[in-house]
Amino acid sequence: MADPSADPDCPFCRIVARDVPATLVRETDRVVAFRDIDPKAPTHVLVVPRAHHASVADLAAADPEALAEVATVAAAVTSDDGHSDFRLVFNTGPGAGQSVFHVHGHVLAGRPLSWPPG
Ligand code: AMP
Ligand code: ZN
Repeated sequence: MADPSADPDCPFCRIVARDVPATLVRETDRVVAFRDIDPKAPTHVLVVPRAHHASVADLAAADPEALAEVATVAAAVTSDDGHSDFRLVFNTGPGAGQSVFHVHGHVLAGRPLSWPPG
C-alpha cells in the first residue's frame, strides 16, 4: 500500500517508492539508505525515513524510533564499507545547506574529516 505521507514532488519519497533509481545499500522497516549522487567522501550515504518528514526535529517529534534507526543504519553502512569512524550530518534549513526537504542523514566516512566544517 502506498505511504499516505508520500509527497509526489519529493525526490526522496520517489526513491523510497522506487519511482526513481538510486543505489540502495541498506533498508529496514523504517529507513532506507542510498548513495549520494554527488559524493563528498569515499562513503557518502543518505539515510532517510520511509515516511516524509521535513527536518530532523520533525522526525524526532513524530517518530523517535525512526531517528534512532537512522543512527544505527549510519553505523552499519560505515562498517559495510570497511570504515569505523563516520560523520552523521543533518543540514537543517536553507541557511545550513538543506536543499531536499525530506530529512536525510548524510553519512560521511573513508577520509579524514576536518572540524569545524565549512
Ligand atoms: P542537502 O543539501 O543536505 O539537502 O542534501 C541533499 C543531498 O541529496 C545532496 O548531497 C545531493 O547530492 C543528494 N541528492 C539529490 N538528489 C539525489 C538523488 N536522486 N540520488 C542521490 N542523492 C541525491
Ligand atoms: Zn519525501
